[in-house]
Amino acid sequence: MSNRRKFIKKAALGTVGASTAFSYATAKSKSVTTKKAQKKPLVISTWRHGLAANDEAWTQLKKGTPALDAIVAGVGIPEGDPEVRSVGYGGLPDREGKVTLDACIMDQNSDCGSVSFLQGIKHPIAVAKKVLENTPHVMLTGEGALQFALSEGFTEEDLLTEKSEKAWKKWIEKSKYKPVINIENHDTISMLVLDEDGNLSGGCTTSGAAWKMHGRVGDSPIIGAGLFLDNEVGAAAATGLGEAVIRTAGSAMVVELMRQGKSPFEACKEIVERIYNKHKNHKDMEYLQVGFIAINKNGEHAGYSIRPGFNYAVCDDEEGNRMEPATSKIPKKNK
Ligand code: ASP
Repeated sequence: MSNRRKFIKKAALGTVGASTAFSYATAKSKSVTTKKAQKKPLVISTWRHGLAANDEAWTQLKKGTPALDAIVAGVGIPEGDPEVRSVGYGGLPDREGKVTLDACIMDQNSDCGSVSFLQGIKHPIAVAKKVLENTPHVMLTGEGALQFALSEGFTEEDLLTEKSEKAWKKWIEKSKYKPVINIENHDTISMLVLDEDGNLSGGCTTSGAAWKMHGRVGDSPIIGAGLFLDNEVGAAAATGLGEAVIRTAGSAMVVELMRQGKSPFEACKEIVERIYNKHKNHKDMEYLQVGFIAINKNGEHAGYSIRPGFNYAVCDDEEGNRMEPATSKIPKKNK
């Protein structure tokens, strides 16, 4: 087992203890955490499609591309891949057969940009970045977001692939809304980056829950819900049932717990448990899955979910690009 892996395992077991951004900044001891603080850059992304996204982001970072551009390029891979049915082109549509997209991006200065309920644009993350750069706002939605994208030179195109249209036609036969937990080709891509200079940034892009109501917006474009970071502390992002993440301000809470001294693992675990407890008697419990990924300034990272099956892709210099399993609140045998 490499030192890196041993370290991650130790952190996951909670034996590293309260390794905070503050303890890092001021640490003089030769603790494992402090040593590992030198490991940059680091890129982590949700789900298996995170591997291809990490690869691209990593290549860009190594070329000296700024982190936000690396994120746009990285998550742009699943966005443009018609076989990834939960993001961008080829994403499963809403119940009216429309592919509607949500995305957001955030940088080290807490500047952010977001689009929601955007149709006809393959790379919503790139539009979100333009919102950050070229508007006085944080979030544009629907028709306004589309008009803005067109004014920025994006091209409108049909994002509903034959495969997704077929799946939608099959769904309308029964029209039963029951999000599927951990299906293949599933879910939002959220990416968190700790760059060479030790600065944090992140992005999040999705076609949202399949068969959602027309006009539904999930957690992914909402800063604080689907994504949040504070460059003094850490970064977190979510995937899963967006309604549950919005109700609990999920990603912002994970970052706040890291600010208070929790490791990424401890912070993700506590918020997942909070979400689970708040939904125990809720109608959504039957299909409730939420997963978080988080990193801190030390380069520690973690993933934690309600149900088993969630994993995330991690890329660093020491071990390259690989999948890491997330720990789950509900054990595998009870899922
Ligand atoms: N969080 C996304 C949403 O609710 C979907 C997902 O990650 O599965 O729109």
